[in-house]
Amino acid sequence: MSNPLPAGAVIGILGGGQLGRMLAVAASRLGYRSHIFEPGTAPAADVAHAWIKAPYDDLTALAQFAEACDVITFEFENIPAEALDVLSQARPLHPNRRALEVSQDRLTEKAFLRDLGLATAPFAPVEGDIQTALAITGTPAILKTRRFGYDGKGQARVMASDQAQAALDSLKGAPAIAEGFVTFSTEISVIAARNTDGAVSVYDPGENVHRDGILATTTLPAAIPARLRTDAVLVASQILNALEYVGIMGVELFVTPQGLVVNEIAPRVHNSGHWTQAGCAVDQFEQHIRAITGWPLGDGSRHADVVMENLIGDQVDAALTHAAAPGVQVHLYGKTETRPGRKMGHINRITGTA
Ligand code: AMP
Repeated sequence: MSNPLPAGAVIGILGGGQLGRMLAVAASRLGYRSHIFEPGTAPAADVAHAWIKAPYDDLTALAQFAEACDVITFEFENIPAEALDVLSQARPLHPNRRALEVSQDRLTEKAFLRDLGLATAPFAPVEGDIQTALAITGTPAILKTRRFGYDGKGQARVMASDQAQAALDSLKGAPAIAEGFVTFSTEISVIAARNTDGAVSVYDPGENVHRDGILATTTLPAAIPARLRTDAVLVASQILNALEYVGIMGVELFVTPQGLVVNEIAPRVHNSGHWTQAGCAVDQFEQHIRAITGWPLGDGSRHADVVMENLIGDQVDAALTHAAAPGVQVHLYGKTETRPGRKMGHINRITGTA
């Protein structure tokens, strides 16, 4: 067992949103301090020891940040390569650079998953004539920007090949990938952790429902056969080991009659893992901090049935009503401005004993 970082060590977190906030709270519970790097508003900074407010391409600020930290992690994946150079040369960076680079580009990500022998949607890069890509994927298909897509943004559906050019034009020239449309019964995700000793712990898969491209609910247990639950755990472990990954990863999967199809991976704590706060002794945020600081991984077995509901935009107005209901945990992110589509908080509703 490696030696954990000592009490008072500083965990650098790139990104200051709600994920960073919940990571910082978990870090404090294990005796650590958090240092946030975030150019915009930073709900995470409210609960952190320090905050550098600078752009991600400010290499001087990044070097100063790294100097002040013992280990560096991140809560979002679109960190520029030059920033990663500065950070990873100065301090341990978990998850590692390769994991970030694989997940930053949908084409690299899909090729990585396929090369591991995992099932993905048929895919092809869009280079030159869009019809060449569609010949591989078939229609219907989805065009997605290779980089910087989130919450369903940067995507266009192509129901038939004569719609392809218009769909491509809507992506405004960004490099893109075409994916064949997967007919799935449900979407699930699995949250998994690997620590510096290579130990792996995988949470029970949750079933996700999206509205307007944004995660609305995650329900545990997922209504899937036990065999697929095991498959999901194996898929996640295989990905973590292949990347020599350290930290929490979210793996999004489609459930199809042929089995599980991997949609995408997120090299960070994940919205669909928030249920672990009410469903497990050790939640995904603590597990991530444990993994990157050299602690043993904690008990991630599920002791409760849980429904996580995001509070998006003015849904946050119902927070007090939820708070008065039995078995409900309310989490608010401290964002002072409510905007449509903005994640303002979430609730975990305990619906039974596992
Ligand atoms: P993504 O940004 O890749 O997570 O895609 C957002 C949502 O679009 C997913 O949660 C799915 O509901 C849907 N989606 C993405 N890719 C596919 C696909 N190849 N086939 C069917 N639905 C998809």
